[in-house]
Amino acid sequence: IPAKTKRRVLLKLSGEVFGGGKLGVDPATVRGIAQQIAATVDTVEVAVVVGGGNFFRGAELSQSGMDRSRADYMGMLGTVMNCLALQDFLEQAGVETRVQSAITMGQVAEAYIPRRAIRHLEKGRVVIFGAGAGLPYFSTDTVAAQRALEVHADIVLMAKNGVDGVYTADPKKDPSAVKLERLTYNQALQRDIRVLDQTAFSLCKDNDLSMLVFGMEGDGNVTKAIRGESLGTLVTA
Ligand code: UDP
Repeated sequence: IPAKTKRRVLLKLSGEVFGGGKLGVDPATVRGIAQQIAATVDTVEVAVVVGGGNFFRGAELSQSGMDRSRADYMGMLGTVMNCLALQDFLEQAGVETRVQSAITMGQVAEAYIPRRAIRHLEKGRVVIFGAGAGLPYFSTDTVAAQRALEVHADIVLMAKNGVDGVYTADPKKDPSAVKLERLTYNQALQRDIRVLDQTAFSLCKDNDLSMLVFGMEGDGNVTKAIRGESLGTLVTA
């Protein structure tokens, strides 16, 4: 693998972001995010992992009586719809893209082939990873950490709705909570801070992958995060 010359990031967008808080895809919201990504691609290589909570969450469906694995596959298929929406608006914004799906569906996406993904990134294409890991019982947060490691991203960027970083306590419940500019994974573990699920967390910690937790709200935050401007909370090993 040749040495990277540009900054390379892995951006995780949860399904919530796509739905604008509702079920399905809100085109205006996705267009805005696509434009923010488009503004960065001349200087940064961008890969994206897309969530699917705006359609289905396996754990929730299984609580209503569905088989967990089948429900998780529904969740994964939901992420692919978000990928296609993001792809469309990125291409409208003049960006070359490839969607790679962890579940084979040749008509709409390439298969997940890591070396090919890296080549796309080197050519300036935005690579959008869909269908999670293709495995039930995983989350797209975990996949974000895994894909970031496998494509040798410099950092994983966790875009959050409704919160602009990591706080000393839940800011919605505790008015004395203070936003942290930086912390280590060990500090986050000690304080039981749940920025993401434990599997994702331990992957980042064990493999020394830095993470920026930032809020979607605010003008151009996605652009700023991708470019490495200071916002949110930086979590490091
Ligand atoms: N999912 C899965 N395996 C994966 C990724 C996702 O089974 O590797 C399923 C799981 O049911 C999950 C759903 O897809 O609830 C949507 O993903 P996630 O909840 O991570 O999306 P987000 O919360 O980011 O919108």
